[in-house]
Amino acid sequence: MKQVILTGDRPTGKLHLGHYVGSLKNRVKLQNSGEYDVYVFIADLQALTDNARNPEKIKNSLIEVALDYLSVGLDPEKTTIFVQSQIPELTELTVHYLNLVTLARLKRNPTIKTEIKERGFGEAVPVGFLTYPISQAADITAFNANLVPVGEDQLPLIEQCKEIVRTFNAIYGEVLTEPEAMLADNKVCMRLPGIDGKSKMSKSLGNCIYLSDDKETVKNKVMRMYTDPNHIKVEDPGCVEDNAVFTYLDAFALEEHFKKYLPEYKNLEELKDHYRRGGLGDVKVKKFLINVLEDILEPIRERRKYYEEHLDLVYDMLSLGSIKARKVAQETLKKVRGAIGLNYFD
Ligand code: ATP
Ligand code: MG
Repeated sequence: MKQVILTGDRPTGKLHLGHYVGSLKNRVKLQNSGEYDVYVFIADLQALTDNARNPEKIKNSLIEVALDYLSVGLDPEKTTIFVQSQIPELTELTVHYLNLVTLARLKRNPTIKTEIKERGFGEAVPVGFLTYPISQAADITAFNANLVPVGEDQLPLIEQCKEIVRTFNAIYGEVLTEPEAMLADNKVCMRLPGIDGKSKMSKSLGNCIYLSDDKETVKNKVMRMYTDPNHIKVEDPGCVEDNAVFTYLDAFALEEHFKKYLPEYKNLEELKDHYRRGGLGDVKVKKFLINVLEDILEPIRERRKYYEEHLDLVYDMLSLGSIKARKVAQETLKKVRGAIGLNYFD
């Protein structure tokens, strides 16, 4: 049996470079390896947990995320792409798992703690939001996923899922599959910072370069990017740590980019050394970064344009993917109900 990979995104906006390096790029690679059963889904129910009063945003973002998927090269022939809300079985699984987790455990979850703080919820946190790790466990287990490619910020959520699986299996018998997180192999890619240099690039924090940003927008955002505040004159020695421009180069620049755009340096180490010594201006480094990003974004934009002109294809893809995924979730739910003993009339 092939290993199962499952991963998803919240439709709270368009996808950004953090998604690309943290997850999307790897998903496409895994999909094309042919070695896995890959499921990718749009987590609209989860997105509603902190956007219940703004359903339009979720509805509009659904298609944007689907367009982003297709434009980075996810292929519905190879990957099952589906929409969370179209699979009611996921909601019932959530109900069964809710009983296996305590309120104290949820409140201790570091991801949730950070997100509650970022969103300023305090005690007024919606119950659905607090419990979304449980619904995420339903998503993962419904498809018997072994591997879940995620950014570093999601690790505590995978941990929560594992706990639910162990608890469920201990009480009701071995039914659920325990997943493992799959992180990007480059440290920077696990949590790409925002253009403000702080925290992580995140739709909710408004510090993103989106995959669909046009050339001019990308250029402006890079030019505004945070660097070393003490590197004032070109001659000044600069710091490459905590300098978002260099962090992005760590994530994106390849030796071939140096050959193409900055042949006076062999690689990123040489460029960093020069910056540290002094005599290298921010503008030159930023211009290089713009070229590197354009190399990646240009083909993505091209594919997006095609699908934007064929939106019916995109909706059909989501609908077919959801029908296919639902069958798998139905099987799992049947086993779960059986294990708990709810199959009274079978
Ligand atoms: P939101 O602000 O609405 O939570 P987000 O930008 O955090 O949006 P998600 O949809 O929550 O995006 O995340 C989808 C996936 O992308 C997750 O696996 C997450 O870990 C990963 N991811 C998100 N942001 C980054 C980032 N800056 N670097 C690496 N991976 C990321
Ligand atoms: Mg997030």
